[in-house]
Amino acid sequence: MENQIRSVLSAIIHPETGKNLVESGFVEHVAAAAGKATVVLRFAKTRDPFAIKLKNAAEAALREAFPSTEVLVVVKEGGAAPRPEPKTKTTTGTIARVIAVASGKGGVGKSTVTANLAVALRNMGYRVGVLDADIYGPSQPRMFGVEGYVPDAVQEEGEERIVPAEAMDIRLMSIGFFIRPTDALLWRGAMAVNALKQMIHQTQWGALDFLLVDLPPGTGDIHLSIIGELKIDAAVIVSTPQQVAVADVVRGVEMFRNENVAVPLAGIVENMAWFTPEELPEARYYLFGRGGAQRFAAQAGVPFLGEIPIVQSIMEGADEGRPAAGIDPRVERWYRQIAEKVVAAALTNGR
Ligand code: ADP
Repeated sequence: MENQIRSVLSAIIHPETGKNLVESGFVEHVAAAAGKATVVLRFAKTRDPFAIKLKNAAEAALREAFPSTEVLVVVKEGGAAPRPEPKTKTTTGTIARVIAVASGKGGVGKSTVTANLAVALRNMGYRVGVLDADIYGPSQPRMFGVEGYVPDAVQEEGEERIVPAEAMDIRLMSIGFFIRPTDALLWRGAMAVNALKQMIHQTQWGALDFLLVDLPPGTGDIHLSIIGELKIDAAVIVSTPQQVAVADVVRGVEMFRNENVAVPLAGIVENMAWFTPEELPEARYYLFGRGGAQRFAAQAGVPFLGEIPIVQSIMEGADEGRPAAGIDPRVERWYRQIAEKVVAAALTNGR
């Protein structure tokens, strides 16, 4: 079957070079087993403008050729920026940099931003993990389509390790794998903190360039415990236009800035900044005013990382377990710009 897959891929032509994916050497890996096929495409350029289009074309062609097979095409791009060096001698010593994603309130898209940022970083060639620490509404399993995953425990060098889920080439550990959604509200205080500590220190992360932590909304003891366990190199605050500058966001900024916490703020992402209907892709409706997050960031002295509009593909991606940054080229571009700034912040401020 792997040869058949290659032959399907050899019918897909790169518009710029006129060569097909196979002869261009872009097919890095092909695997097929048990009704599933995975293809890794690696593009030579760091920002091949056709990468996502070709990935979509490859997926469509493979699905047509093998209708009963679940097909996944993963894109990687060559020559990523120099990999950050991992810190040493800790249980999280194989993780080079930790990025926390926070928000003042729930429902502003913090988890969606975390998942899409993870995919954007992976597309840039980084090895990425996601720790879903949002005990009040762990949604990363849904974002990555691995809701039913039950983590295995294994022994590694005499230590017990928890095996993370893997989706879209991203390692994922979520508090949602251990609690039922209806029990989440009972998980307060010490119980949640202990579970999170275990997830931080016992997950078999492997070597990661970036671990993204989806924090619970707001500020509180859980945040402080996570900050105490993991040295966070960059914090990203997600806000919607309505929520900008409200007390919760200000408290978030103050928490990271507090001298006892001192987590470097990478900046603010404005999510749901405008609305673009599917049938009018050029239109932008600023339903809640314009530029608020940028003004707030300037006032608060926090970098502004960029804005993400409300678009259908982001919502659908979240529902279908495939973040839109891996599928929709527009969304990938918006997230790429934010990811580049976050990487720069994590590399310069961190450690
Ligand atoms: P939070 O983690 O802050 O509670 P979520 O990431 O779960 O919020 O997002 C809340 C809802 O909003 C989800 O249904 C998600 O699909 C949707 N959503 C988030 N960002 C966008 C966006 N930019 N465009 C469309 N829908 C979005």
